[in-house]
Amino acid sequence: MTQSSTTPRPLIAGNWKMNGLSVALDEARAVAAALDERPAAARVAIFPPATLLHRLADVLAGSVVLVGGQDCHAKTSGAHTGDISAEMIGDANGTMVIVGHSERRTDHGETCQHVAAKVEAALVAGLEPIICVGESLEQRQAGEAVSFVIGQLHNSLPASLKGQAFSVAYEPIWAIGTGHVASVDNIIEMHAAIRAELISLFGEQGGGVPILYGGSVKPDNAAEILAAPEVGGALVGGASLKAKDFLAIIEAA
Ligand code: PEP
Repeated sequence: MTQSSTTPRPLIAGNWKMNGLSVALDEARAVAAALDERPAAARVAIFPPATLLHRLADVLAGSVVLVGGQDCHAKTSGAHTGDISAEMIGDANGTMVIVGHSERRTDHGETCQHVAAKVEAALVAGLEPIICVGESLEQRQAGEAVSFVIGQLHNSLPASLKGQAFSVAYEPIWAIGTGHVASVDNIIEMHAAIRAELISLFGEQGGGVPILYGGSVKPDNAAEILAAPEVGGALVGGASLKAKDFLAIIEAA
C-alpha cells in the first residue's frame, strides 16, 4: 500500500448490513480466533445490525476486532422510532460508526447535511466515524464522478473532524453488491482526488486519513485493490459475512 505522509495501519471494515441472526456471532468468533493466532497488519472492525451490536461487542471483548454501528441518528435521544443514537452505540460497547452509506442516502433520503450532523454526533459520543461517498453509474457515465464525489465529501465532513480519528470510504454505488468492481485506474484517480480534498480541508492530518475502497471487494481482488496508491483499507459487505472470506481479505492488507 502506498500512502502519503503518515501512513496508519489499513482498516478492513465488515458491513453486515441487514444480515445476521444469532448464529452469525460464530463467524465473528472465528475471525477473532484466527487473528488472535495470526495477528493481522490491518485494523479490523465489524458493523453488525443493531440487534447484534451489544452481543457482538461481548463476543469480541478482549480481541483485536473492533465493533461499530451501521448508522446513527444526529440526536442523542428522542422521538425517532427505529433509530439509534451514537451514544447508544457507545453504550453497547461499539467504538465506531459508518455514516452516509449510499444505502442510507438512497433508502432514507439522507443528504450530506444529515451526514455531517451524524458525524458531529458520533464525535460527541466518542465514536470513530467512517464517512461514505460514491457516485451513481449515471454520474460516472456522464464524466461527473470525481466532481460529484468531491462535492459530496466536502459537504459531509464537518470542521469538527479536525484532530479526530476518522476514515473516508469511497464506494461507487454501481459496484456495491453487484460484483462489478471499479477499475484500479478509477480507484487511483478517485482516491487521489479525495486525498487532495482532505489535505485542503485538514492540512497535514488530511494526508493520513485512511481512504477505504468499497464495492464488491472479494478474496480474489482484494490484494490488487489494497495495493493501489492511497487505498488505506476496504469496506466490505457481502464478503464480510463468512469468516473465511473476510479473513482472506484481511490477510491481503
Ligand atoms: C458495502 O456494504 O459497503 C459494500 C461495499 O458491499 P459489497 O462489498 O457487498 O459490495
